[in-house]
Amino acid sequence: MRVALYPGSFDPITTGHVDIVRRALGVFDRVVVAVAVNARKTPTFTDEERVALISHCFADAPEVEVVTFQGLLVDYCRQRGIRTVLRGLRAVSDFEFEFQLASMNRRLTDQVDYIFMMTSEEHYYISSSLVREVAFNGGDVTGLVPEVVARALRERYEALG
Ligand code: ADP
Repeated sequence: MRVALYPGSFDPITTGHVDIVRRALGVFDRVVVAVAVNARKTPTFTDEERVALISHCFADAPEVEVVTFQGLLVDYCRQRGIRTVLRGLRAVSDFEFEFQLASMNRRLTDQVDYIFMMTSEEHYYISSSLVREVAFNGGDVTGLVPEVVARALRERYEALG
C-alpha cells in the first residue's frame, strides 16, 4: 500500500491543494491530508473547521483521510508508519523553503522521504493567505477555492462585519 502524507495549514483548503491531492491519488493508494495544529498561530478557521472543509471536498474519495497533527511531522510519520511526505510547489520561492524544510526533516530522520508535485498552470498563483485577503475585502473567490470554502469565507467575514 503506497501512502503519502500531505501536511499543511490548509487555512483554508484551496483549489490548488485539491488538485495536488487528486493528482496524487494517481500515484498513491492513499493520501492522508494532515492539518498542522500550531498553538503559536491563530488561524482563520479552527482545526475542526479546516478538517470539516477538507473532508467535505473529498467526500467522494475514500482513499483520502483527513487528520490533525501536532509537533514534529517526522514524529507523526513515525507513529503512523508513513514514509512519504507530499508537498506542492508553485514557484522558485516555494522551492527554497521546501528544500530547507525537507533537508531539516532529513536531518531528523532518514525514514521519511519527500515527493513534490508541481502546481497546475491554472493554480500557480493561488495561496490560502491571498484567498483570505481577497475574501476579507469582499472580492470574489469563485474558482480559487471549492464552493463550500467560498461559502465559509463569506460567512466568516460577514460575521465580522
Ligand atoms: P504550509 O503552511 O505548510 O505551507 P499550506 O496549506 O500553505 O501549508 O500548503 C500546503 C502545501 O501545499 C505546501 O506544500 C504548498 O506549497 C502547497 N500548495 C499551496 N498552494 C498550492 C497551489 N496553489 N498549487 C500547488 N501546491 C500548493
